[in-house]
Amino acid sequence: MSTNILVRICGPRLLRAALAEQNSWITVGRCLSTTTMSRTMLKDSPNAALNKTLLKKYLDLPQPDNAIQAKYIWIDGTGEGLRCKTRTLDFVPKHPSDLPTWTYDGSSTYQADGANSDIFLYPVAIYNDPFRCGNNKLVLCDTYSSDKTPTKTNKRYRANQAMETVKDQDPWFGIEQEYTLLDFDGRPLGWPKNGFPGPQGPYYCGVGADKVIGREIVEAHYRACLYAGVKISGTNAEVMPSQWEFQVGPCLGISASDDLWIARFILHRVAEEYGVIVTLDPKPVDGSWNGAGAHTNFSTKAMRAENGIAEIEKAIDKLSKQHLRHIQAYDPRGGKDNERRLTGKCETSNIHDFSAGVANRNVSIRIPRGVAEDKKGYLEDRRPSSNCDPYSVCDALVRTCMLNE
Ligand code: ADP
Ligand code: MN
Ligand code: MN
Ligand code: MN
Repeated sequence: MSTNILVRICGPRLLRAALAEQNSWITVGRCLSTTTMSRTMLKDSPNAALNKTLLKKYLDLPQPDNAIQAKYIWIDGTGEGLRCKTRTLDFVPKHPSDLPTWTYDGSSTYQADGANSDIFLYPVAIYNDPFRCGNNKLVLCDTYSSDKTPTKTNKRYRANQAMETVKDQDPWFGIEQEYTLLDFDGRPLGWPKNGFPGPQGPYYCGVGADKVIGREIVEAHYRACLYAGVKISGTNAEVMPSQWEFQVGPCLGISASDDLWIARFILHRVAEEYGVIVTLDPKPVDGSWNGAGAHTNFSTKAMRAENGIAEIEKAIDKLSKQHLRHIQAYDPRGGKDNERRLTGKCETSNIHDFSAGVANRNVSIRIPRGVAEDKKGYLEDRRPSSNCDPYSVCDALVRTCMLNE
């Protein structure tokens, strides 16, 4: 970013800091700038610089009826990263069981060593492909080692067993996925390069060029999810600038987590075209900037029935006795990631304590105001980190609240 732009947008104070080559950022108000944003994106990201209109020519070519592109998608050995590869099918798949299993090189995804590298992909859910359209599909898979046992990061296998056990009680999940857009240099998109935007307050659910950044990506993602068949239920700008949220659900059982993983894939894929990075890190900026979570809203048939509040309270009591199990399941590093976020500040509870309350956002479990008034509904677990594996989160909720494990 040139010093000229700094002068124009941020005034002399930031300029002085920039010229003095201060290492740490300094706080400067009114610094959000879409001019700065697009310049950096286009300059630094090779993906954004590619011409976006040329591809349409090829996507518009007639596609043979017996040549369907199926993009297989899976979770890699980090438990956070998504991988994908495509194959051509000679039929339109309607159900995951129609689809062939496949393999990939697990030594390149932190899942196997080179000598015995094949990992199996088992299709578990099919979505419409919003990028290739037509009859083309996105295929969510879970992963199995050469001996056909689930890989370490296949948390779906165990979660699905729990869901099957309680399926007569119709567990529903609604997950609020918070995320942060980053510029190609790793800083939040559109933030001044040597300072900070003005303090939090005006940005949550905001509108206007000085309030929100990157809405195009949010809009594109929302429509792409609807097209795909993901049960996306809403979206909003978050408290920290360049931070956003979308919600999935309420969905029955395992499908909430399946839909969330595909929604994450679509988000990374859309942002890739804009040359923007999506991070699910739970605390992308230190200090008094809100972190990112994946609040998980949960209910059973009994909680949704008349006076279901009694069931909700019973579940909270069970949760209070299993705090550690849940913290361990709520981020990919057994609580280490969430330690940076669950500080007791910025609308979070402290990671070391369990707490619950009506309409309170500084607790582990919140009972929404409307639920308390209706005396039925659902509870919100505010602890899961934005980079959690939803299979692990939903699995833990079912095992604690429904299976009494
Ligand atoms: P917040 O006020 O916490 O920001 P949101 O509107 O972002 O709330 O999210 C509410 C979530 O609760 C949505 O994902 C929605 O699908 C989910 N939800 C609503 N009713 C239920 C229910 N009965 N069981 C489980 N989840 C539910
Ligand atoms: Mn929300
Ligand atoms: Mn939120
Ligand atoms: Mn919430």
